[in-house]
Amino acid sequence: MIIRDVEYDKIFMGSINYGTDLLEELENICVEKGIQLGHIEALGAVQKACIGYYDQKSREYGYNTLENPHEILTLSGNVSIKDEKPMVHAHIVLADGKGRACGGHLAAGTVVFACEFLIYSFKGKVLKRGFDEKTDLSLWK
Ligand code: ZN
Repeated sequence: MIIRDVEYDKIFMGSINYGTDLLEELENICVEKGIQLGHIEALGAVQKACIGYYDQKSREYGYNTLENPHEILTLSGNVSIKDEKPMVHAHIVLADGKGRACGGHLAAGTVVFACEFLIYSFKGKVLKRGFDEKTDLSLWK
């Protein structure tokens, strides 16, 4: 188990541009603002989405690509350090035109229609990701 005491440093609130990649933009904001430890929330809509599911048997991510527009009901994520850079790990819940929800691990290829975000930047010892043998994932060490 890993537990860290953290303190709020700053809260960033803003919007992400139409047509950009959601995950890439969240990581760009973290790099630009020097956020190494934090919590992310967002809502809005996407033009299309790519969401992942980690298969615990095969130890590989599978991806579902949604080619049509969806609402972002919620996005919740964290910021930590991987390979000496801020990495955003976020999960997203989307809804289609009939209100049916689906979701998973936010992957590259999710294109913003409109998105409003909050990033809570924390002060404290940074969490670094490294290879975890039990899961084959890059987890906090
Ligand atoms: Zn995930």
